Amino acid sequence: MSASYAADPVTSQGRRFVEPDPKYRTAFQRDRDRIIHSRAFRRLEYKTQVFVNHEGDLYRTRLTHSLEVAQIARSVARNMQLNEDLVEAIALAHDLGHTPFGHAGQDALNKCMAEYGGFEHNLQSLRVVDQLEDVYAQFSGLNLCFETREGILKHCAVKHAKKLGDVGERFLNKTQASLEAQLTNIADEIAYNNHDIDDGLRSGLIQLEQLIEVPVFREVWLEVQGLYPDLSGRRQVNEILRRLIGRMVIDLTETSFAAIKASGVQSLADVRQHDASLMQYSALMRQQKNELKHFLRENLYFHPTVYRSTWRAQQIIEALFGAFMHDVRLLPAKHQQFARELKQEQGDAGQARAIADYIAGMTDRYAISQYGELFDFT
Ligand code: MG
Repeated sequence: MSASYAADPVTSQGRRFVEPDPKYRTAFQRDRDRIIHSRAFRRLEYKTQVFVNHEGDLYRTRLTHSLEVAQIARSVARNMQLNEDLVEAIALAHDLGHTPFGHAGQDALNKCMAEYGGFEHNLQSLRVVDQLEDVYAQFSGLNLCFETREGILKHCAVKHAKKLGDVGERFLNKTQASLEAQLTNIADEIAYNNHDIDDGLRSGLIQLEQLIEVPVFREVWLEVQGLYPDLSGRRQVNEILRRLIGRMVIDLTETSFAAIKASGVQSLADVRQHDASLMQYSALMRQQKNELKHFLRENLYFHPTVYRSTWRAQQIIEALFGAFMHDVRLLPAKHQQFARELKQEQGDAGQARAIADYIAGMTDRYAISQYGELFDFT
């Protein structure tokens, strides 16, 4: 049973390349299945979320992060009678365009691409599913439905939106994406805020004593202390984090339900025309979540140890980009050909784009091995 304002695969705005409907699946299920079978999806296993992939086996990777996003988004979608297949598809695809080495990699590649239109991972995720996957006979990309593609493109600068056709329009005319897209965007944030705390504590870079200075964390810590005064270590951390996730999910569900009701939206078309996002937290939870984010930024993302691996990642990305720009013959044959084709069409910016596609597609360890091959003479 779906809500009247949920996205519906039967009334989807369709695929760029028209295909017959699948027999025993909905269009959104097919999108989800294509994403899982893609190469970019398998590479997520070896891409960094915050901690570089080889630092430890228990840290989140882009793959486990994406699975956690899907889990959270699906559970809210089911409660709110939104389309569960669509949120799953968006969640599993949302980070397909991420570079190796997490945000450090994206920032470094964006810097390399400054003269050539920049690099932005949301746009790259869309580029992966629209163009770069090349396994189907009749089209490039995965030929996903409009609703999945709009969900993948969660942010976009106006200058880029102009070139994106249908999925770029909402950034120009200030309309909203589906509730499923709005939800998945928030589920992403719920997942990383909580798992980054978990990974941060596991790494020893942040301590419980620091975290209990953050009001919402302290509240939940006190709750767990009251229930299990002798609990410590992993079990204590997990009892705190499962409650934190629960609070965010429940707050999001209840606040959004109330906002939808108050708005009077009846259909997806109404959702799109509404003047703001209807999936939302209460004012209190928004503040609490911002305090947590602020803590993570101050104490984890720029921790000297993390910053060192960030710096190393930047050196690797910049060196690879520089080498390939200098001489495309250093690229593997397929990418070399693509770089030459794009250069013919668009000049240096085209060549740079093909190189950015190649580098963005790399896993952490592949990027490190390529760097070793080109620059390590020992
Ligand atoms: Mg994410």
